[in-house]
Amino acid sequence: TAATIPDPLTCDDVAARRSKSGPFKGGVAASTSSEFFKSTATWKPMSKKWDHRLNGESKSRQASTLKNAATYLSIPGMISLGGGLPSSSYFPFQYIDVKIPSIGKFSEAETLESGKVMHIGKHDVKEGKSAFDLSISLNYGQGTGSAQILRWITEHTEIVHDPPYQDWQCVTSVGSTSALDMIYRMFLNRGDFIISEEYTFTSAVETALPLGCKMIGVKLDAEGMLPEALDELLENWDEGAQGAPKPFLLYTVPSGQNPTGATMSTERREEIYKVAQKHDLIIIEDEPYYFLQMQPYTGRDAPAVPLPKNREEFLKSLVPSLLRMDVDGRVIRVDSFSKVLAPGSRVGWITATAQICERMIRHNEVSVQNPSGFAQVILHKLLDEEWGHAGYLDWLINLRAEYTQRRDVLLHACEDYLPAEIASWTPPAAGMFHWIKIAVEKHPDFGAKSIRTIENELFLAAVAENVLVSPGSWFSADKDAKHDEMFFRATFAAAENAAMTEAIKRFGAAIRKVFKL
Ligand code: PMP
Repeated sequence: TAATIPDPLTCDDVAARRSKSGPFKGGVAASTSSEFFKSTATWKPMSKKWDHRLNGESKSRQASTLKNAATYLSIPGMISLGGGLPSSSYFPFQYIDVKIPSIGKFSEAETLESGKVMHIGKHDVKEGKSAFDLSISLNYGQGTGSAQILRWITEHTEIVHDPPYQDWQCVTSVGSTSALDMIYRMFLNRGDFIISEEYTFTSAVETALPLGCKMIGVKLDAEGMLPEALDELLENWDEGAQGAPKPFLLYTVPSGQNPTGATMSTERREEIYKVAQKHDLIIIEDEPYYFLQMQPYTGRDAPAVPLPKNREEFLKSLVPSLLRMDVDGRVIRVDSFSKVLAPGSRVGWITATAQICERMIRHNEVSVQNPSGFAQVILHKLLDEEWGHAGYLDWLINLRAEYTQRRDVLLHACEDYLPAEIASWTPPAAGMFHWIKIAVEKHPDFGAKSIRTIENELFLAAVAENVLVSPGSWFSADKDAKHDEMFFRATFAAAENAAMTEAIKRFGAAIRKVFKL
């Protein structure tokens, strides 16, 4: 059964573990969580092994010979004539100055003067700090990602998720995108199906198709994937009729799901986890919007529920992740800095069992190697040396308040400008997407024209009004599925408040034209 979920650890708890586990030495891939926390962690079971699920490609990956040899560099006095690392004295970068804003300055006019300069350069290596600097970060690294960023990510994962089994680890990825591609290639064989929400992140589908694999969608409501529907799909799977073995990979976006904005409640997550246990599924928990969980929308006249400002309350206010209830080690959690810091940083990570992480490291070694050294060093300076874990939580607290405000602006515009008899929605509780249902059956030519045709008409009418919204069918897990409902996705991620309102006004005009209101 799923673990009972304890309160989140605090930043102080993790700092205490960090100090107990001794000073950080840096070095080569040594800071895996299981080693790092071994001396301090309370007893936890070991994870399941996944040999029966790994595919031939993944099983045949060998450790990179030269990367492996790097372990000898930690022997004191070793002179290396071994690897192909260029001398850092020839790198044409001496230091980088990065101007960072003060935490929580989003809404006030941030002036150039009010920010702070973060200096990254050789002479900036401070006593007791990580000694992770340009000369190190810009050289070849390890398939885990740099030991310093990995350590920070591991501590962060422990603060937020504290997975309930012993041998969990983190490995960096080049954003969630590379992680997803690698995870699929670890388990799937041509012809396999992957289960996902009925509407899902387009890249998750587009990554599967060239591998000869298809997504099969499960119905969802405002709380995400329906556990009964998932169970039914698996119970009734007919290998002969489907021409494929019973699927065992479940891809889900539990918070602020892309495109529907659905967020799974704790109970829903527990139910999904139980179904996964029953059918021995591996869950890919893709959570770029996890920290953008908002307070429920209370309507424009009701007073807004205040957002917790305190770090511990903030952590408790987040719906626990599937990773947090993962007693078996069947969740591969995919995290990314894209939506909370900057997508161009291309830094993300997975958290999974040591066995799965080891396969991922082998794949990293011969593909991306690790995220860019520039990105890693800048993020590490910001997250570890400038903000620390507590400062990062403060950043997230402020960020989610910003997104809550944006969501409310979009919802008010929808209330004001979309025809109520045609457009309806459930206010999103996380993320950056608003999923608008269009009552397609009220179209004058409904029946004579297909839903796809009407959807395309409305899309083009919106473009003619100068607003871009995304038709729901673009996100269909199964590209051939015939849906009997119609949706459009609008994002409140980036347009300014006034532009967002204007955009919805234009979309309302397009609906009125197409539906001849
Ligand atoms: N997963 C989901 C659900 C997303 O919505 C996105 C971005 N749209 C990504 C992954 C991609 O994230 P990254 O930039 O980390 O590759």
